[in-house]
Amino acid sequence: MKTVFPPSPSPVVPVAGTAAVFPVRRIFCVGQNYAAHAREMGSDPTKTEPCFFSKPGDAVVVNGIAIPFPSATQNLHYEIELVAALLGGGANIPVDKALDHVFGYAAGIDLTRRDLQAAAKKAGNPWDMAKGFDRSAPIGTIAPASVIGHPAKGGIRLSVNGAVRQSSDLSDMIWSVAAIIARLSQFVELGAGDLIFTGTPQGVGPIRPGDRLVGGIDGVGTVSVTVG
Ligand code: MN
Repeated sequence: MKTVFPPSPSPVVPVAGTAAVFPVRRIFCVGQNYAAHAREMGSDPTKTEPCFFSKPGDAVVVNGIAIPFPSATQNLHYEIELVAALLGGGANIPVDKALDHVFGYAAGIDLTRRDLQAAAKKAGNPWDMAKGFDRSAPIGTIAPASVIGHPAKGGIRLSVNGAVRQSSDLSDMIWSVAAIIARLSQFVELGAGDLIFTGTPQGVGPIRPGDRLVGGIDGVGTVSVTVG
């Protein structure tokens, strides 16, 4: 088929232990999946449903590079998160089958324009420009589940210029990866190439121009980015 311009190439993420790369389709995110983070955001951690939002697939940032400081924010925040990378999916996936669709896991950073998010919340407006902006999804190498399994516990942390700012454990997640996939698949048909950012623990905070962010999840991998 003749296209009016060359289609954009699919963003890709390296896979640990192989030259193969993971082609990214969409990015879904879970809000407030750790009780202590929900409380620091002034929310009730006992709410019964996860909140979902998304970023464009091409918001992915290759691990280790420098990115420009994003426009239109005075309060850019880091959020270290476990990312699940899907190899399949579908609709209405049962919880006990959900992990069958996970290819692997990575550490990712959900960059957030916190000032725009607060304004959107106050006005009852969508979060898109607070969350789904260009280069808002740095992600490390994907570790295949066939090698590392499906991590449900283990340290998750992020440091800024060498100082630890976030430190928690995957076992503190309110919604498990399986529960997230099952619930999300009730809203969208999940498929190969989808990434799911599963929420950040407490300790989120501002990024200043020139800051170096380094995140890590025990048994999964690391992610790093320099901003501005
Ligand atoms: Mn997040």
